[in-house]
Amino acid sequence: MRRIQPTLINFSIFGQLDLMSGDTLISDKGIIHTKREVCDICGNVCQYNGSSNIGKHILTTSSNSFLRKGQQYCSTCDKTIQVDNKWIDNMVTSFNEYVATQIISLSDKLSEDDIVTHLKNTMSIEISKSTVHNIISKSNEDLTNLEFDYKIEEGFYGYDEQFLMIDGKRAYRIVFYDIANNKVIYEDIVYKFSKKILQEIIIKVFPKTEPKPKGFVVDMKLEYPSAFRNVFGKKIKIQFCIFHLNKLILKEYSDALKIGKKVKWTLMHYYNMYCLFNIFYNRSFELNRLKKLMKHLEEFKMKLTKEKILFYVNKYKIKYNDHGRQREEVVEIIEKKLMKSFRKILHDKRNLRKKRKITLEIRSIESAKKKFENIQYEKSIFPLKIQKRIEKIKKNFEFFIASEGEVITNNKLEGFFGSTLKKFRKKGRKSLLSFSALLKRKRAQCEGIKLFRKFTIFEISKIFTVLSFLAQ
Ligand SMILES: [Zn+2]
Repeated sequence: MRRIQPTLINFSIFGQLDLMSGDTLISDKGIIHTKREVCDICGNVCQYNGSSNIGKHILTTSSNSFLRKGQQYCSTCDKTIQVDNKWIDNMVTSFNEYVATQIISLSDKLSEDDIVTHLKNTMSIEISKSTVHNIISKSNEDLTNLEFDYKIEEGFYGYDEQFLMIDGKRAYRIVFYDIANNKVIYEDIVYKFSKKILQEIIIKVFPKTEPKPKGFVVDMKLEYPSAFRNVFGKKIKIQFCIFHLNKLILKEYSDALKIGKKVKWTLMHYYNMYCLFNIFYNRSFELNRLKKLMKHLEEFKMKLTKEKILFYVNKYKIKYNDHGRQREEVVEIIEKKLMKSFRKILHDKRNLRKKRKITLEIRSIESAKKKFENIQYEKSIFPLKIQKRIEKIKKNFEFFIASEGEVITNNKLEGFFGSTLKKFRKKGRKSLLSFSALLKRKRAQCEGIKLFRKFTIFEISKIFTVLSFLAQ
């Protein structure tokens, strides 16, 4: 056999590919041999004898390179001998792992077609869609057996369920969230759901051990308190999510103010709505701002002379001729500007809170009760829909203050829900297996569990060096 020898030109490649020791030899035909074997029957040294395979591997199409495995022959016994070739095995493994790592990592965000395109466009790696599909499916199946450990602590847990369609079927995604440690402890997808099933899941997730959870933050569904109480007893604290309540109030307010397709907000409506937001959180900053803006508007109205109206009619190109109508229009435009400035203040304030990592101040139970009492006195100022909402809050007030201010929203959980679901919808992957796998990958990431191998630059360099060295 004529073998490729290290030369001044390929010297560094020989070093990089572990070919210097002479344990692995590459013939001039590109066959990869090991040292000559000793025949275990007669004890003679064997001869090199071509290759036992055509050497195709996952990157052959992309690089036109082959890993032909050398075989040997004992002329005394007239016997062909297949030898172990660790060098080839390691290369094949690293090629496969490299491609699988790329595909699985990309599969969080891209569809199978997009992955094929991405690999081709960025690395000239040609992998068929069916190979991509098989690698993802295999990984998805492996993930079904992956279980996560969690410890129950004496704190608050968030619970939520999310309705979705998988394979055209209604499904429910169930999540329990450890609020203090900011992580999911249980996640499942079920096709059938009822209060009884929820109770069974609660028992499964929180077996009868100490410590017990202090309570749960849930949406405002009335069957939740009784489901949790049936499992844990009456003392378990059930806190309704205030963020959820406020979102509802905003929606109901907009609905109530709808005329045709437009929602007719005024500063006064803003103010009244923030009075509701001010029950459980301290929103006095926003209320004071709104008061100032309303005062500003009143003063503007008082000082609005005929000359001034004419000025604004020209400035804003108001088309009405009637003076009264013109005046109304000017006031409306200015009020809209003031509302816009309020939204900007809100926006900036929220960003500032995020930056400084501070949250809104939660009111004490006493203070919340007092604020709510005041709301009830002046209930008639609110639209009917909101009056009904106030009634409902009154009826279930205990659930809005249950945690005594320790935790009053499921915001962290909502953020988690949203980000995973968006990915699922975007990718158009609709099978239960792939969705469950997506959730498990996300969770593994949170838990710091590695699901695929991370390659160093040097390992990648070695892979591509081998490919180009063996390319034909
Ligand atoms: Zn022999």
